[in-house]
Amino acid sequence: MSGRILVVDDIEPNVRLLKAKLEAEYYDVVSASNGPDAIELARRTVPDLILLDVMMPQMDGFEVCARLKNDPRTRHIPVVMVTALDQQEDRVQGLQAGADDFLSKPIDDVALFARVRSLLRLKLVMDELRQREASGRALGAINDTMSCLGDASAKANILILEDDERQGQRLARKLGEDHHLIHSTDPRDASERLDAENIDLLVINLAARGFDGLRLCARMRSGDKGRAIPILALVNPDNREQIVRAFDIGVNDVLLRPVDSNELSARVNTQLRCKRYADTLRQSLDNSFEMSVTDQLTGLHNRRLMQARIEDALIRLDRGVEAASILIADVDFFKPVNDKWGHDAGDKVLQELAKRMKANMRAIDVSCRYGGEEFVVVMPGSNLDAAMQAAERLRIAVEAEPFTLGDGQGALSITISGGVTELFQGDSHEAALIRADKALYNAKKAGRNCVLSADDKNHANTALG
Ligand code: GH3
Ligand code: MG
Ligand code: MG
Repeated sequence: MSGRILVVDDIEPNVRLLKAKLEAEYYDVVSASNGPDAIELARRTVPDLILLDVMMPQMDGFEVCARLKNDPRTRHIPVVMVTALDQQEDRVQGLQAGADDFLSKPIDDVALFARVRSLLRLKLVMDELRQREASGRALGAINDTMSCLGDASAKANILILEDDERQGQRLARKLGEDHHLIHSTDPRDASERLDAENIDLLVINLAARGFDGLRLCARMRSGDKGRAIPILALVNPDNREQIVRAFDIGVNDVLLRPVDSNELSARVNTQLRCKRYADTLRQSLDNSFEMSVTDQLTGLHNRRLMQARIEDALIRLDRGVEAASILIADVDFFKPVNDKWGHDAGDKVLQELAKRMKANMRAIDVSCRYGGEEFVVVMPGSNLDAAMQAAERLRIAVEAEPFTLGDGQGALSITISGGVTELFQGDSHEAALIRADKALYNAKKAGRNCVLSADDKNHANTALG
């Protein structure tokens, strides 16, 4: 995986050393020797990752980081802070400034590349989501409030898997001040909870004697649900091999034992922030998809989805799986309704008609607003006879009860006319709609409030009912 990395350090030999290491692994490296230059370069070149020295004159790394994370143009770029060895307070301060990770000087190659790979992988996923969100926004389907960060103060559900009872309780106590904590000592119990409950984060002790934590992490990453849950692993600092494997398996972050409680809560909050962001993006994408195929006035599907469903039905038909038919229905004398009662009343009639369609068609039928006062129902699995019966049932359901307008405005008698056609092999959605429309035209000519079929000899232009 390649990527562009910005290295920031005021000491020239440090920059040169890191640059050489990273370039040897085919990363594209740019560098800056002070804070303001780094911010400017980050805005201009938008790197995939920033390695940021903490100790710099004028503007230190914390401030640079905070500024990058406050700017929407650079907020999404992961920042790794490079600190002097074992500066616990530095780490906490860095996480508070929004840093995503840390490296200690002198920089260990194994740790460096493990961090870099894991953060670049995360960024790839986030970029994909952000890009899809941007196109959703361009279509007007996503608004700003939907994509803002989730509520950071909301309590999260955190599962701790730690077989040492006392240590587990100590962690739970610390995190329990801000979140709902579940402490588990057994990997099987933990697996079940991860499947069944809404867990936002797993904190797992990879140094536990009683179970193989990496195995559980690997299993989580192979399941759909587990893949979306961030994992924070506790490891022994001397077990470098395990740290590397943990990142390769897909653990999001590691925390060295013995656990410093401030660093623990800072890292937990970073993971939760990322998860909320990803969840919000995913949610807004789901909403935007739903909106892009829904008719706003009636809540029925729109033309776009109708067309896709007719295409689906044609594919199954070509495979010989099942028959399918479509109905076009049009409100009779709708213009006079608008003229006499007003456009709002007309809208109410269309909404009530949509309700009756939903109530009277089968669950697998797809009811769509074709445009204006015309509707299309796609009926998978229905041959012409079945489709004619269903259409007739709908026609009667409309005629049977007057449409109330609300606000004491009284009720209107409404009727519809319909045209039905069965799809055949080699058909197209355009041709099928033209046939159904012709049958509808004939139904109008025949006096309205009736349903005609286009193609079957038995039904040819014959009204049922
Ligand atoms: P016919 O029985 O031949 O179908 O007569 P009609 O009056 O229903 O048909 P026509 O095509 O002449 O008029 C359709 C009317 O539907 C005209 C248009 O203003 C109205 N219409 C289309 N879309 C909407 C809408 O979203 N809301 C409302 N209230 N009226 C709409
Ligand atoms: Mg009409
Ligand atoms: Mg019309």
